Amino acid sequence: MSIPFVDLKAQYESIKDEIDSAIHSVIDQTSFIGGKVVRSFEESFAAYIGIRHCVGVANGTDAIEIALKALGIGTGDEVIVPALTWISTGGAVNNVGAKPVFIDVMESERTIKPAFIEEKITKRTKAIIPVHLYGLPARMDEIMRIAENHDLSVIEDCAQAHGAVYKGKKVGTIGDIATFSFFPGKNLGAYGDAGAIITNDDELAKKCRMLSNQGQLTKHHHKMIGRNSRLDTMQAAILEAKLPHLDRWTAKRNQLAKWYDEKLKDIKKPVTPERMKHVFHLYVIQSEKRDRIMDALREVNIGCAIHYPKPLPFLDCYDYRGDQKRDFLIAEKLCNEILSLPVYPELAEEEINWVCGIINKIND
Ligand SMILES: *Cc1c(COP(=O)(O)O)cnc(C)c1O
Repeated sequence: MSIPFVDLKAQYESIKDEIDSAIHSVIDQTSFIGGKVVRSFEESFAAYIGIRHCVGVANGTDAIEIALKALGIGTGDEVIVPALTWISTGGAVNNVGAKPVFIDVMESERTIKPAFIEEKITKRTKAIIPVHLYGLPARMDEIMRIAENHDLSVIEDCAQAHGAVYKGKKVGTIGDIATFSFFPGKNLGAYGDAGAIITNDDELAKKCRMLSNQGQLTKHHHKMIGRNSRLDTMQAAILEAKLPHLDRWTAKRNQLAKWYDEKLKDIKKPVTPERMKHVFHLYVIQSEKRDRIMDALREVNIGCAIHYPKPLPFLDCYDYRGDQKRDFLIAEKLCNEILSLPVYPELAEEEINWVCGIINKIND
């Protein structure tokens, strides 16, 4: 017996006919770039979230970069970013010429700590990028209040939170603009790289559309310098086939999380505050014995992983900044103690029992 950390094959087998026919229909139509299939997925995803515009792009990192550019953010600007996230959230800010300003996270929710944001705002601050980390919404009320008080834009990084809900609103509909990744392992995953930007703002949507397609809305009318970051048609067909299954998969992730919650003893588990819906892209436990737990799981071929081993400001690429340890004590502690357990929708209760048994034994 063994349990991989994610099992994309199991999911494919459960919907094989739909995926195969989606792929073949793209090949049949030999329409490989743009076209009806991309439009159709963009409309379906916008409808699923409940927002006016969805612009498909090449991946979730480009989505953040393009959203920043559409907001006019660039050289000399500063953007608030949580210290605990995937590199893209910070890297995208650097790639538009701006400076990420890192903020520590909350120990229980692991998302950006709103109380620490205001003291880092300067005249150059233009935006906040809250990340709905692991599938749990960030504290959007507090973040939106700060943004309003200081006239900042808010870009929600929803790469891990497809369908998560904050006080009755799906994440991605609260800030000015939001970005998604459809990297294969994400809750809604393509079979390659893919991403999207969503917004209710007509002008921003138009700018994102132009920026992602060589500055044009109609062929050969290049209104600005853009780039090639289009959503691949094959990926759009696959995503369209998978989207109707997303809520069922999310429900299963929540069931798995509930089993973990009930069966794991004396260990810090993910929290879900009132009026938030978690979508458990990752189920992340916290323990001082993290390394021993990780070794024991790997010993019996149970997949597990650390998201992430270091706070962003302490990655080699940010060495030059000289960020201080004392400003990121919580992120640092989490990085030393967190462990992500398998939580893909095809897992069975017996498998959860096995994982919990091994962890509980170490924790006794
Ligand atoms: C996956 C991810 C991204 C980037 O998505 P890609 O499609 O891999 O470029 C950005 N932010 C977060 C929080 C992510 O988890």
